[in-house]
Amino acid sequence: AVPLVVAISTAVSAKNGLLIRNRTAFENARNITSIIFDKTGTLTKGEFGVTRFKSVSDHLSDNDLLQIAASIENSSEHPIAAGIVRKAKSKDLSLQEPENFQNITGKGISAKLNGKEIKIVSPGMLKEQGTDAPTDAFKTDDETVVFVLIDNALAGYIALADEVRPESLSAINTLKERGIKVYMATGDNQQVAKAVSEQLSLDDYFAEVLPEDKQRIIKELQQNGEFVAMTGDGVNDAPALAQANVGIAVGSGTDVAAETADIVLVNSNPKDIANLILFGSATYKKMM
Ligand code: ADP
Ligand code: MG
Repeated sequence: AVPLVVAISTAVSAKNGLLIRNRTAFENARNITSIIFDKTGTLTKGEFGVTRFKSVSDHLSDNDLLQIAASIENSSEHPIAAGIVRKAKSKDLSLQEPENFQNITGKGISAKLNGKEIKIVSPGMLKEQGTDAPTDAFKTDDETVVFVLIDNALAGYIALADEVRPESLSAINTLKERGIKVYMATGDNQQVAKAVSEQLSLDDYFAEVLPEDKQRIIKELQQNGEFVAMTGDGVNDAPALAQANVGIAVGSGTDVAAETADIVLVNSNPKDIANLILFGSATYKKMM
């Protein structure tokens, strides 16, 4: 039976950009009762466009704010960063070279620019440091808003929008028809997570999660008897991918995620993930 499974798996791999690192996990696909998708780049396109940006500092114009933010974001690989840099370039703003660039895991980035410490952070991190968001920052439910801090003082905000992938809804419906509960975990804010969750009729969602939270969420589901699949695309997802009964690394993303996962999918399309779960079950049935 083993060579048959390997043969079929290899055939699928060639077609769909699928790498099975752990055959047991692939066969385990038939037992999955819950799946947790990441949001950005998996359920959504992961292409953020800037919708609004505003300085709240008397010393900075809106464009100054965008120029500073883009100079820092130019060193980041987050899809939010690409959107901010694109917007600055479209306005012909020239970018500066920051020093000491750092990721603040799951919360934002920081760097030095012209002797000042610049941070670009999530609403959660803004709250953590005791700063209130300006009342006009959150206008709609589907915008992701990040905040720019200069030497820890709020300088402004940038709102961006991503879109749900057209394939997500049918993939989720396929999984639900098989009795699999579908969840989403995201580092993004509550409003955005709720909006995406409602659009896709998810069973539940977890917003503003840090990488270590993902592992805990999986553990809790497992303690409730769930057999959990989880998708992840980043270095930070490695512990959660390891915790999951079936860890699926998506996207061409990071090697670390891929090394920890049971299954690696080149595309982060949820349709491929639904197919792979269906195919795992079909492969098993053929073996019987
Ligand atoms: P997700 O993959 O679900 O978007 P992340 O952990 O990658 O979650 O990011 C969580 C949040 O951290 C983002 O929604 C954003 O608020 C903030 N963040 C992360 N990276 C950046 C960045 N380069 N610039 C600004 N904000 C960022
Ligand atoms: Mg991410």
